[in-house]
Amino acid sequence: MTSFSLRQVKLRPGEEHREAVDVELPAFEFGGQRYVAVPETVPAALVVNRANTGTVFSLAFATRLHGPCYRCLGDATLDLRIHGREYQAEQPDDEELTTPYLESNALDLSAWARDAIALALPDKILCRADCAGLCPFCGKSLNDEPHVHEAAAADSRWQALAALREAAPGGDAAQIG
Ligand SMILES: [Zn+2]
Ligand SMILES: [Zn+2]
Repeated sequence: MTSFSLRQVKLRPGEEHREAVDVELPAFEFGGQRYVAVPETVPAALVVNRANTGTVFSLAFATRLHGPCYRCLGDATLDLRIHGREYQAEQPDDEELTTPYLESNALDLSAWARDAIALALPDKILCRADCAGLCPFCGKSLNDEPHVHEAAAADSRWQALAALREAAPGGDAAQIG
């Protein structure tokens, strides 16, 4: 995993330090499935910006995730552009003003990148926006083989028949009247 030591970064208020870093992106779980970044190491731009009262860190990178589609379990990829920002106060009064990724003057870039990716994810990762998913009867992909089952078709015919029967007494009454 990638961490970045801030020991060499000596900044006065108003100064900034830019660094190109290669960040290793750990695999992660989402919706019970495993997703990996390909490639697992990405070039990122780290900016350390010293303000009067603290330090602003920003991390930007692009990544492509690979994993199963939420609906059909086929291969899905997702391109993301990540731009994370963290703030560490010089004398923090409360936890809000500290970053959890800073420890012993080193930034845990991999943990930060993983959390930033998690925040950027859509509700569902799909192979394509209109993925038809899996057939609820046989489990085959409806993308590869669009189909309807006899049983399902028969079911809907029975439902139509039942609806007619329910409507029938009213029809009779109309005839009598
Ligand atoms: Zn799919
Ligand atoms: Zn089927």
